[in-house]
Amino acid sequence: MTAKHRIIQVGSYAGSPTANERLARDYDVVELWKYPDRKAALAEHGKGIDVLVTSASFGCTADMIEALPDLKAICSWGVGYETIDVQAALRRGVQVSNTPDVLTDCVADLAWGLMLAAARRIAYGDRFVRAGGWGQVHGSIPLGARVSGKKLGIVGLGRIGQAIAKRGAGFDMDVRYHSRNKRDDVPYAYEGSLVDLAAWADFLVVATVGGPGTHHLISRQVLEALGPKGTIINIARGPVIDEAALVQALQEGKLGNAALDVFEHEPKVPDALKANDNVVLLPHIGSATYETRRDMEDLMLQNLEAYLRTGKVVTPVSA
Ligand code: NAP
Repeated sequence: MTAKHRIIQVGSYAGSPTANERLARDYDVVELWKYPDRKAALAEHGKGIDVLVTSASFGCTADMIEALPDLKAICSWGVGYETIDVQAALRRGVQVSNTPDVLTDCVADLAWGLMLAAARRIAYGDRFVRAGGWGQVHGSIPLGARVSGKKLGIVGLGRIGQAIAKRGAGFDMDVRYHSRNKRDDVPYAYEGSLVDLAAWADFLVVATVGGPGTHHLISRQVLEALGPKGTIINIARGPVIDEAALVQALQEGKLGNAALDVFEHEPKVPDALKANDNVVLLPHIGSATYETRRDMEDLMLQNLEAYLRTGKVVTPVSA
């Protein structure tokens, strides 16, 4: 029997159906999260290891890359990679892969779920019925807002942003977008100014990458431009929105609604958001369907196997 190939796994894939089992079945896995002293574990087990598997939640710092002198490939579960030091990896000639495309539809679907939940007060109405409010008070919950035919602004028209935009056609919505670069391959109007896009939109969906380049991109100015009837939806990364400014804009009535899958300091959610009935809150579940999580797992493992077989990952990340 040939010995299994030794790899390092940074964290336990609690949100993936069988990733831990499949990795443990096929590889000799150093389970880094089980060691109280990571640095010591890397020093003890790091030599000779050429593959590390991780995710955006677990990350991979420059220090970890440095502590693995023989590292050649980082295979990540998920499309975002802002917590992986890709520059440090590429400088060392280490390939990095992620799992794009396979999660696009489910994340776009969830953005629409959030949009509808906020506008039509679905989560609020559910709480109201469960609490026995229906029939106890005169009337029902406050009126919501129509979605069909409205203006949809998208911040970041990448894979997920485009899938969200495409669904807008089914709701007869006028779609515009903002990103750093204007695209020539889409039928949507480009807005070079994010504040102008927010002022135009009824619904503003954030679908950019995370990381320092988009930190607090959705500022107080953007939120106030969206205005008291506007709704912000975030399925990208929490820190893309200035959360303190969001809380304040909602409290002061300068922004209508917020529907959020991601937060600035996950899993912490500000009490002011929890207390506000104009806010819909989800626990970062954009890709959390059985089918998509399985596809993400498959693609991460394909990258790992392809690297070992051919020396090249299938879906590489560039800087
Ligand atoms: P993608 O195809 O790379 O698209 C990212 C988009 O962000 C690009 O269109 C890019 O356009 C834009 N962008 C980057 N920096 C920007 C900036 N400073 N201002 C405005 N736009 C900017 O990525 P994707 O596959 O659509 O995924 C997008 C993100 O969704 C991921 O990175 C991840 O953080 C998040 N995500 C969340 C969940 C969840 O569970 N909620 C699940 C999956 C993914 P330009 O380069 O032209 O600016």
